[in-house]
Amino acid sequence: MPTNPLVALDRDHLIHPVVNYRAHEQRGVTILESGHGAYLRDTQGTELLDAFSGLWCVNVGYGQQSVVQAAAEQMAKLPYATGYFHYGSEPAIRLAARLVELAPASLRHVYFTLGGSDANDSAIRFITHYYNSTGRPQKKHFISIERGYHGSSSQSAGLTALAVFHQNFDLPLPSQHKIPSPYPYRNPAGSDADAIIRASVAALRAKVQELGRDNVAAFFCEPIQGSGGVIVPPKGWLKAMGDACRELDILFVVDEVITGFGRTGPMFACEAEGAEPDLMMLAKGLTAGYAPMGAVLMSDRVYQGIADGVAPGVPVGHGYTYSAHPVSAAIGLEVLRLYTEGGLLANGIAQAPLFEQGLRDLLEHPLVGDARSRGLLGALELVADKSTKARFDPALKLHERIADAAYRNQVIFRAFGDNVLGFAPALCYTQADFELLFARLKKTLDEVLDQPDVYRAA
Ligand code: PMP
Repeated sequence: MPTNPLVALDRDHLIHPVVNYRAHEQRGVTILESGHGAYLRDTQGTELLDAFSGLWCVNVGYGQQSVVQAAAEQMAKLPYATGYFHYGSEPAIRLAARLVELAPASLRHVYFTLGGSDANDSAIRFITHYYNSTGRPQKKHFISIERGYHGSSSQSAGLTALAVFHQNFDLPLPSQHKIPSPYPYRNPAGSDADAIIRASVAALRAKVQELGRDNVAAFFCEPIQGSGGVIVPPKGWLKAMGDACRELDILFVVDEVITGFGRTGPMFACEAEGAEPDLMMLAKGLTAGYAPMGAVLMSDRVYQGIADGVAPGVPVGHGYTYSAHPVSAAIGLEVLRLYTEGGLLANGIAQAPLFEQGLRDLLEHPLVGDARSRGLLGALELVADKSTKARFDPALKLHERIADAAYRNQVIFRAFGDNVLGFAPALCYTQADFELLFARLKKTLDEVLDQPDVYRAA
């Protein structure tokens, strides 16, 4: 079969996010060409079941014509309107108002970004401005969680706690600190929910005490850690962390970039937990990947502090050319309609038990040590020894073999380096899609187990 000329062009010119550049040059790009519902098609004509919603974002599935139409209409009418100089556009205003309606009651104001990294970066800038504006300029330290992910822009990557985002990038900054992950499968405090929550609260208190509470600005967390390996803390954990932040007089900042928009069941994970953040970051499911957009939602207290922190006529110097982009906003409005009136949130909730059961059934497989999920966000953790939870030797490169075998079996999910397999099926999945997913997944795991060195290790 002749090689697609795009592969050489890609190798020579296009730098990919978060790949090993040398490995990519050797391996070449896999070009995806089209999508429909939960399925993708590559340039070889292979149809693949997407169990990761692109990159945890295409929550409404591919090919939703009403979204395409909303974008086309807005492009034809007004493709761009700046938010600078007091200008704006109808879809952006309506989307901000709708998000406030749906979000926890503590959040009243919305700043639109282009994605999740710059939403986290914007939050850091707003918080810094807020404390400078309200007479507490020494509150400059930020605490986040090991295995957390908050983006890869220059400040958000320091809150991220995954080594490759720091290596050779001179991060984290001296003002960025971490506490241990609540990781139930591997928590030194054991698997008891109360013990895990107590350990996290104690770690936050200890870190704030070590830094001095007058020096700490905020605590950032994900309700479920995504890129760190789909780590699902016990119910009550998020609320307890929020309560601790109040008591410690630091801002409680929740990153719902993955967990937002029905991914864990309700519109936002905060809702199920009764958590009331001071700031909340959104992206991904906001436009379901049909165009780039993110957002920072903030409380009235933070907004008023910033607004009063500048002299009359002096702007708050934070903005992007594409903040509140009208086409992205029009897409966001239609995507929100699909979640609510379109029934996708309800479908996600209805399908979640099938997903949970399918993952749990795989606990019987010799490779699988842990199965965890909430809503339609889940993971399997593969171990070499179930009794000791020992990981496979990284030299086996098991995650790469699994990703390759999965592709051959026409299913896409995320195989993380430490052999956690992450799943984030679209909210439009049907029972038949789940049956196919678990059949293909089981076949993939069996094939990998059949490889002699893996069999010996397991
Ligand atoms: N926060 C979280 C929780 C994320 O999962 C991500 C992306 N995976 C980001 C922030 C960064 O978002 P983006 O890639 O859109 O910049």
